[in-house]
Amino acid sequence: MQVKVAKTAGFCWGVRRTVDQLMEVAHERQTPVVTLGPIIHNPQFVSRTRQMGVGTVERVSEVEVGTTVVVRTHGAVKPELDAARERGLEVVDGTCPYVKYPQAMAQRLSHQGYHLVIVGDPNHAEVKGVVSYGEGPCTVVRPGAEIPPIDAKKVAVIAQTTCIGADFERVVGALALRHKEVRAVNTICADTDERQTDARQLAAEVDAVVVVGGKNSANTRHLAEICKEIQPRTWHVETEEELRPEWFAGCTLVGVSAGASTPDWVIDGVAARLGAMAGGPAALDAVIPPV
Ligand code: SF4
Repeated sequence: MQVKVAKTAGFCWGVRRTVDQLMEVAHERQTPVVTLGPIIHNPQFVSRTRQMGVGTVERVSEVEVGTTVVVRTHGAVKPELDAARERGLEVVDGTCPYVKYPQAMAQRLSHQGYHLVIVGDPNHAEVKGVVSYGEGPCTVVRPGAEIPPIDAKKVAVIAQTTCIGADFERVVGALALRHKEVRAVNTICADTDERQTDARQLAAEVDAVVVVGGKNSANTRHLAEICKEIQPRTWHVETEEELRPEWFAGCTLVGVSAGASTPDWVIDGVAARLGAMAGGPAALDAVIPPV
């Protein structure tokens, strides 16, 4: 059995940028450091940052004066950021610039009188953040869900950055038949698009796919859904501990894809375990660098 790792597996540019910002702050500041929500959606990485003394809070009111607050990749809700600044806390904004774009568009378009429609998961931190920048009515439509009636002449549609293109297209198409004016702003991140295309290709080539990443990571779950449509033998795992040899019975080629928030050392661990299952060299042991 051979193992093929997707070329786009692992940290995207935005996650790498936020992680670098956090590491710099954690190593150089003398003040306590906390992140507003988990810095990225990967429990293994968050656990490591905790070992380094970096805490996680859900609200700025939990933070003591003198603490440095790092905003996670997915951004924060506007009132929390306003509260942090009002309290004079030092804020390091780790929001990915590709998440800042839908936030800015939500603010601008709602200010221009558009009813906002956001295609995404209403419980996801990024979507909550984008909604908070709106200055008027807003409807969040889950991918695949029914689109409720909206009483507005003009609507603006924005996507969660990790949205699947077909889901965005469906909502824009349906609304175009219902409203006088529909403004579609494609805020799907190009990295997400590229990763999904890569995963599709990989799934078509292999006998089984392992998608590595946080179970709380939207983009990882989407990758697993995409791969499963093409290759039913698709498994979503967070670490190598979850792998089961019986999943790969009779396989000659296994593909590994990973979400944008999955550290390299976690992917290496999975690839190494797969290699060992295949009777490959023991030297495939994962190399785990310090974060
Ligand atoms: S997937 Fe795109 S939007 Fe999300 S953090 Fe990465 S670069 Fe930013």
